[in-house]
Amino acid sequence: MKQIKKARVAIGGILHETNTFARTKTDYRDFMKGRALGMAKGAGMLKEFRDANIGVGGFIREAEHSGLKLVPLIWTFAQPGGTVRHQAYVRLRDQFLSGLKAALPVDGVFLELHGAMVTTRCEDAEGDFLRRTREIVGKRVPIIAELDLHANITPLMAKEADILIGYDTYPHVDIAERGKEAARLMTLMIRDKIKPVSAFRQLHLLISPPRQCTLISPMQDIFRMVHEMEKRPKVLSITFSGGFPFADIGDAGASIVVITDNDAPLAGKIAHELASAIWRKRKEFNVVLTPVRDAIAYALKTRKGPVVFADGSDNPGGGAPCDGTVMLKDLVEANVPSAVVAIIADPEAVAAAGRAGAGRIATIRVGGKTDRLHGKPLTLTGLVRWVGNKSYFNKGPMMTGMRVDMGRAAVFVVNNVEIILCENRFQPFDAEAIRCFGIEPRKRLIIGLKSAVHYRSCYQTMAKKIFELDTPGIHTPDLTQYRYRNLRRPIYPLDAMN
Ligand SMILES: [Zn+2]
Repeated sequence: MKQIKKARVAIGGILHETNTFARTKTDYRDFMKGRALGMAKGAGMLKEFRDANIGVGGFIREAEHSGLKLVPLIWTFAQPGGTVRHQAYVRLRDQFLSGLKAALPVDGVFLELHGAMVTTRCEDAEGDFLRRTREIVGKRVPIIAELDLHANITPLMAKEADILIGYDTYPHVDIAERGKEAARLMTLMIRDKIKPVSAFRQLHLLISPPRQCTLISPMQDIFRMVHEMEKRPKVLSITFSGGFPFADIGDAGASIVVITDNDAPLAGKIAHELASAIWRKRKEFNVVLTPVRDAIAYALKTRKGPVVFADGSDNPGGGAPCDGTVMLKDLVEANVPSAVVAIIADPEAVAAAGRAGAGRIATIRVGGKTDRLHGKPLTLTGLVRWVGNKSYFNKGPMMTGMRVDMGRAAVFVVNNVEIILCENRFQPFDAEAIRCFGIEPRKRLIIGLKSAVHYRSCYQTMAKKIFELDTPGIHTPDLTQYRYRNLRRPIYPLDAMN
């Protein structure tokens, strides 16, 4: 048995959720500070992330508590976006791997990954990353990876890691909690107290993100079942991944990983039981979307705000451009008494607002510049209320404590619609994205958000009503709109399956 005080565990993470339907590519600089949600190397990682609600944050806190010695290598999270250039991935991967080689011998490796990264040459970047990590440390050193609830888990990932741990929540509020779980299991493995074996199952099921929300049925019921199953003897961890349907790869879709303490038949039995129960619920995953005008009519009739409009089709958190104008156009034309739109990522519009200056009336071309899939640019005349550099810290409950850099930003007011324009592209799930401009979302009739589900972490209780909008885009929840070429078939709901 290894003495825990002397055990050394390498930690790191490269996180990307790749939308292969995006027209843009994700580059090395998208993983760099400023553009990324965070980037740190070496000892700086411990200081920067120890208190953050992210996987390495939870892992660091719990591992230090247990007396493990940590060897921090590299951690970076690029905003979800188009396919990652293979060279960018290789450059990041090799920074981790060369650090790992230099750190040998280690007694364990913890990786925080997303699980849905696709490069221009590799459909399964995390599988590749785990395989190469395994080659370096050998068969006997534990490798534990934490994955997003939207991971498209592949057979290679399941094979190369000893333990995969997925989030149990969407909005993702348990990221640090799962990191702590990983640290507890790591400690038990290093002390030879457990011998994890796993069963992996892919379902013939593609689930649209709004229906993966764990605050509502059927996901809420499924996770209740998962947590009951986790209480059974010898069960160490169960992951149900909803998958990321906007990556057109063979392995996209829902999957299950069951880990038991040295009982492979039990792991297989539980995986089968859970897969059957989820499959029986497949029709409950069908989405219902509302046209923007119907949602506006509802808000104008009830006059009870805030009514939240989720423009999931243009969700940057799923790789969309975040400069779509379909929702904005209807809001501006409807003459609503008060509305705020967060955010439109449009550096040109911000620059135009800057040239006009705060307090001035300006005519600005807003949005629709990345592609033509999310609406055309709008030429709007209104008041530039504020312009300048802006950043904020998430107040939670999701990714609490992480700094979000908006770049240069502006508040542009057109027909009572406050449009938050930003240089940087990010998902405004935290209410601070609006409050940092002195706008109180509770006092607005309509809040338009470029988000599919994560906004619910802040707005589920605040909102009087929530609409998931029927707008076009590369993150539209209507899965029948996509032309899949690589996805395994048959798969529900694209194919009729009984
Ligand atoms: Zn996710």
